[in-house]
Amino acid sequence: KTTLDIQTIRKDFPILSRTVNGQPLVYLDNAATSQTPKQVLDVIVDYYSGYNANIHRGVHTLSQEATDKYEQARATIQHHFNAKFAHEIIFTAGTTHGINLVANGFSSLLKKGDEIIVSALEHHSNIVPWQMLCERTGAVLKVIPMNLNGELELDAYYELLSNKTKLVFCNHVSNALGTVNPIKEIINAAHNVGAAVLIDGAQAAPHIKADVQALGVDFYVVSAHKMCGPTGAGMLYGKEEWLNKLPPYQGGGEMIAEVTFDKTTYADLPHKFEAGTPNICGGIAFGAALDYMNAIGFSAIADYEHELLVYATTQLLTVDGLKIYGTALEKTSVISFNAGSIHPYDIGSILDKLGIAVRTGHHCAQPIMDFYAIPGTVRASFSFYNTKEEVDTLVAGVKRAVAMLQ
Ligand code: PMP
Repeated sequence: KTTLDIQTIRKDFPILSRTVNGQPLVYLDNAATSQTPKQVLDVIVDYYSGYNANIHRGVHTLSQEATDKYEQARATIQHHFNAKFAHEIIFTAGTTHGINLVANGFSSLLKKGDEIIVSALEHHSNIVPWQMLCERTGAVLKVIPMNLNGELELDAYYELLSNKTKLVFCNHVSNALGTVNPIKEIINAAHNVGAAVLIDGAQAAPHIKADVQALGVDFYVVSAHKMCGPTGAGMLYGKEEWLNKLPPYQGGGEMIAEVTFDKTTYADLPHKFEAGTPNICGGIAFGAALDYMNAIGFSAIADYEHELLVYATTQLLTVDGLKIYGTALEKTSVISFNAGSIHPYDIGSILDKLGIAVRTGHHCAQPIMDFYAIPGTVRASFSFYNTKEEVDTLVAGVKRAVAMLQ
């Protein structure tokens, strides 16, 4: 039984007290984006009402205050993910941006015939940039297969690895199924053949505190909006040696050392990858979101979410004809399901009328849906501010939808 006081935590989130279609909001689309506590909202208002200024260039007080807060946020992120250096943390617009930054950088490091391995469990944002990279370089994309439980087949992965493998990409947690992947094994095996590894931590970061040094991972990317922060902010962690090797992604102000029309030299890390005016407020609010979650504590969060997952799984399985996709032993609080042959969209629409927000569709992971030969699923994803009463409301709603649609 959780030690967290969920009712008090819920008071931090103004949005949770609104109604939708005349019903109290039951927000179960946390894997798409999480809600924002007032501690983070206050930081956003403070920024724009107190010290809004451009950073790293002004001599004036506001600019210095904004620069200090932005760099403090970078240090907060560094400590949260246990990076060795603050300059290994690159502020991005989110996971997609971080992946594209790395994929672009590898354009000049790969040659025809090199191999890139991705997992069958990827989000489109961790498939498409690598396909584009393969088109640019002539490298070949290989896929780690999955099984019916929604787990990766590690033996098949080990067979794909060879001295041609240059890069391996895998998500830490699958957004469509919630599977927690064995990334330590994946990273170690890739390193044994000299390949670099990028882990997409978008879905793991709200539940699991990743230690990038203990993992030995080369790149780790997350989005702030999945972990109580704002949209349009995120981070790319890269090992210093890799970030020094990769060319810059975008050119512009802030990322240069010296510019003449003959030649430009680039700034040191992290600025080499941070061209232009960044999302200053977003970066600062990202730091505040990590402070908020750490004050609650990641292990208490994970324990409580597991409690919700087990309860919701048991309750949902009492619905006639309900099938859950993704039954891995290690999973986060995500349940992807269908009820009989009812289209997920129809269930989602009825739930919305009842004030319940879930995601329906392919969840930007069409290959997984193809694997199960389904058009999509209904996905309920739980956060630490959800309650068992909300699970009951969901289950009652699904039962009602099934009765109406069958
Ligand atoms: N990877 C995974 C596993 C995700 O769940 C998401 C968001 N659904 C992304 C990448 C993309 O994140 P963003 O849209 O914030 O760039």
